[in-house]
This record gives sequence, structure tokens and C-alpha cells, in this order.
Amino acid sequence: MRHPRIVKDGAFQSELVEKFKVLSHQILEYSNRGELRGDFQREISSMLLDFSGCNVIEFWLKGHGKYFRSEMVCLVGKPSLFDIKPYAQNEKGEIIPGPNDHPELIDLYNTIIQGRIDLSQPMVTERGSVWTGNAKKPFSLRLKVNKKLHRRYDDIGGDYSSLLLIPLSVNRENIGLLGLKSKSSHYFKKDEIFLYEDLSRDLEIAITHRDAQVDLRERIKELTCLYRIAQLAAQPDLPMRDILHEIVKAIPPAWLYPEITHARILFNGDSFSTPDFQPGRHQQRADIIINGKKRGSIEVVYGEERPELDEGPFLKEERVLLDTLSKEIANIIMGREAAQDKLNLEEQVRHADRLATIGQLAAGVAHELNEPLGSILGFSQLVKKSPGLPYQVGRDMEKILNASLHARDIVKKLLIFARQMPPQRIKVNLNQLVEECLNFFKSRCARDKIELICALSPNLPEIDADPSQINQVVINLMVNAFQAMPQGGKLKVQTVFEGDRVLLIIEDTGIGMSEEVLEKIFTPFFTTKEVGKGTGLGLPVVHGIVTSHGGSIQVYSQIGRGTRFEIQLPMTRPNVKETYSE
Ligand code: ADP
Ligand code: MG
Repeated sequence: MRHPRIVKDGAFQSELVEKFKVLSHQILEYSNRGELRGDFQREISSMLLDFSGCNVIEFWLKGHGKYFRSEMVCLVGKPSLFDIKPYAQNEKGEIIPGPNDHPELIDLYNTIIQGRIDLSQPMVTERGSVWTGNAKKPFSLRLKVNKKLHRRYDDIGGDYSSLLLIPLSVNRENIGLLGLKSKSSHYFKKDEIFLYEDLSRDLEIAITHRDAQVDLRERIKELTCLYRIAQLAAQPDLPMRDILHEIVKAIPPAWLYPEITHARILFNGDSFSTPDFQPGRHQQRADIIINGKKRGSIEVVYGEERPELDEGPFLKEERVLLDTLSKEIANIIMGREAAQDKLNLEEQVRHADRLATIGQLAAGVAHELNEPLGSILGFSQLVKKSPGLPYQVGRDMEKILNASLHARDIVKKLLIFARQMPPQRIKVNLNQLVEECLNFFKSRCARDKIELICALSPNLPEIDADPSQINQVVINLMVNAFQAMPQGGKLKVQTVFEGDRVLLIIEDTGIGMSEEVLEKIFTPFFTTKEVGKGTGLGLPVVHGIVTSHGGSIQVYSQIGRGTRFEIQLPMTRPNVKETYSE
């Protein structure tokens, strides 16, 4: 853009007015672009420096609860220098001078910005601007409130002789100050001063216009981001990981400097971030809180330094947006988890139903078989005892007897699974029971290269239970654990006291189970083991015993990692229907 320039000598008044008009027009046009504050201050200063032929343009502009002072300096033969920094205000809205500032100069600025000067003095215009052609000479100004009160200013010009300081305001609110400084003395002519004041009125409009443009753009960015999140939340089939991945991508465009904005969401130990994310000096963070519990966080980081705004280099609107995002994410997660819980519950009910049906069937078959089995056993024992039995018949009878004992064993297990063998209830010390079992397995552990880790709770209360049944539970789980670790490993047995119940935890580092296997482990006769190694009745028996004790079982397993069985048992006998029998 080419700016007009003031020609100091020989310009007609009408020409001068025309030039100011052109500059005003250019400033207004530029403000349309809604550039960031720093860039705006730089461009306006540069236009004014060039136009006025001054040595310095100082531009104070209020925003984000601070004043931003920019200074553009042009010394003969050198490229102009630009500098911008924030200044805090005191409770009266006055600029607080920094350590390198001339305190009297800042005092003068505050007096002008706040419109406290009596306007009927030679150095003050009707609109409250102050000017001098010889700032090296001390001068004093009368204040409005008490006309007798003079403020004296000593040598505030520094290197500059001519100063023109014009207050800026919008809707009667002070928003800053424009300062023009020249090394030449008596640089500003009276009519020029009025023209600069007119220009400043247009600058005020330009400032408002720029603010509105920036606000609008930020709001659009914010809404676009929120809209994107609403879109993601509305896709129930989209996995949570994908949602978080997409949300993180939608964050940088909503921040003031998208090109240097990086974001990261941490959730449940997983991290989702934009490329090149690195924790930085300037970062904003919000926690993801679900049901009062912190479950993760969102972080936004600037990769480069940026000027101070509301919260470090961030806007207060960005803080609000970040907090909203963390709440939105928490809502999406809560919705998902509730839906998943419902599915899990339904699945559990279905599973329990299925086991109950199988239980009824198994109990029916077992009862029916019990009687003929009894006869087979009884009569074969009789036959075996009859005198003069040929040797081969005796051996065959032995086989019949063994087979029927095996069958009776299976029938018994089915009855336990179907909870047709009500447990005995006596006070049982679970720790003692576990220790006895472990002793029994010690030599096997040594042989199979299995490290046995035992962590029994020292303050475990006694529970109402059937010791032989609980013994069966521990043995069945330990045998499975051994079989899952053919190359050796670690077997951890724990007891825990928790509220009104006790936990028995048996954990191995064995082969683990797939989802499909996990689904079926409590079904009678389900086994993945070769014939002779497994009957598939161990866990159904465990299930039957634990359920008839009013307890429950949790299984966690990962292929190649191991399996953890958590048995919860109530301390006392629960008031529940204990059998499936009609
Ligand atoms: P069995 O041991 O006779 O096969 P169970 O009812 O005890 O029957 O176990 C059923 C199935 O569950 C096993 O065949 C095995 O696939 C799986 N299983 C049980 N415990 C474990 C374990 N600790 N690690 C891996 N798989 C296991
Ligand atoms: Mg088994």
C-alpha cells in the first residue's frame, strides 16, 4: 500500500486535508482484514510514521485487561524498529509504569487517557490532546478538578522535542493513546494537529471494526469446533478412540494461532495428540472429570512464543472453550460407558440364564443317572465278591466298577454345578485353607518350575462356608493355572478383605484365553485340553460352589499373558434362594 505523505513546506491546506482523508480511508480499509492486535498496531504505526515524517509513533491500545504499548522508531538512514509490550493497569485503570519508563511521562499519558486535564490551556486542544514543540523545557498542566492544581513535567521528551499525544476512546470509554514524536522542535502546526485528531476519530472506528472482525472470526472457529464434536458424538458406532483422535484434530483451528497450536488428550492412560505435540512453556490444560473422578486431560500448547493476552498468550474465550471441550468429552464418554454397562449387564444376564438352563438339564440327567449307576455299582460289587469267579471275569468286573465310580464322580460334579449339593455352613478360616492347599502343591511347583507367590491378608475374617467345597475351588483353580503354564511361570494366590466380603485371587502367567474360550469356561464339559487331561467340569464346579455360597466370580485373561480369577465370597450366609430345584 502506498501512503500519502505530509509535505512540510509549501502544501496548501486543501491538499493537506485531502492527504489525511486518503490515509483515513486506508486505515479503515486495512481494519477490515481483522488482523491480530500486534500486526494491526505495527501496520498503523508504520503508515503513520511514513505519513507524518515523525521519528517515533507510540500507540497504546487497551485489550485483555491490559494496555499494549507499541513503539515504532525511525532514525535517519536506518530501517524502522518495532516493539510491543503489555502493561498492567491499576485498580483506577491507570497504566503502571515499567522500570525503564519515565514515570512522569506515564503520568502524563494516564492524565490524557483519562481526560483529566483542563482543556482551556494553550498546549491542550478542545478534544483533550496535548502537544508541545519543545519538550525539553519543563512545563506544567492544570487539571480539570482543581484548576489551581498544576502538574509539572520535567524533560519528558527524551531525545524528542515535539510531541503530539492524542487520547483514543470508543463509546466514551478510553481505549488508548496515539503519540507522535519528532526530533525537530515545533514540528506540528496548529491545523495539522486538528487533522491528526480527525484521523484519530477514524482510527477509533477502525479499532472497533478490527475488534469485531477478530471476535467474529474467533466465534466462528469456536462454533466450528463445537459443531464438529457434536457431529462426532452423534455417531454411536464410532469407537471412542477415533472420536478422541478427531477431537484433538479439531482443536488447533479453533485457537488464535492455529499454525503453532498443538493439542493432546490423555484418557485412560492413552494419549491422542496432533503431530509434533510437545509439552511447552505456554500451555492450557483442562481435566476430564467423570462422576467426580479425574479420568484424563486436554492440553493445548503453543510451539512458539506469542505476546501476553488473558491467560499467558491465550484468550479467556479459549479457556472457556477448553473447559467446554473437556465437559463435552466427559459427556460423550459417560454416554458410551453407560451404553456399554447396559450391554455388559445384558450379556451377564444372558450368560447366567444359559448356565441356569444347562444346570437344570444337568441336574435332571444326573438324577436320572444316579439310580441306574447305584445299581450298576452295587451289583458289580456283589458279583465281584461271589466265590469261584473266573480270573478274567474278576478283572472285567474291576473295570466295570472303576468306570461306574468315574461316572458317579461326574454325576456328583454335575450336581455341584447345578447347586444340588447344598454347602455345609461353618466358620472357615480361608487363609488356613489356602495354606493347606498350597502345601499340598509345593513339590509340584518345584517340579514344574512355577514360582508360588502367596499374599494372604493378615486381618481376614472367618467366613460362613463349606470347607471341603472351598477347598475344591482352590484346587480346581490351581490345577488349571498349572496346566496353563507348561513351561513354568508365576502363580500368585491372594486373599483380600474388602468391606463385607473377602476376595480370593488366583493369578497365573500362563497361556491365557481368547474371548471365545472365556465365554464358555463355566459350561459343563467345555474343555480345550486333550482327552485325559481335562473333563471340562472344573470351572462349572467352581461356579456352582461359589454361587451357592452367595459369591461371584470375575475372570480377566489375556492370551500369552495369563489369567486372573477373582472369587468374592460374602462373610455371612446370604438370604438368597440357593438352588435351581423346583
Ligand atoms: P478343564 O480344566 O478340565 O479343561 P475347566 O472347567 O477347569 O476344565 O476349564 C475349562 C477351560 O477353561 C480349560 O479347558 C481352559 O481352556 C480354560 N482355562 C481354565 N483355567 C485357565 C487358566 N488358568 N488359563 C488358561 N485357560 C484356562
Ligand atoms: Mg480344570
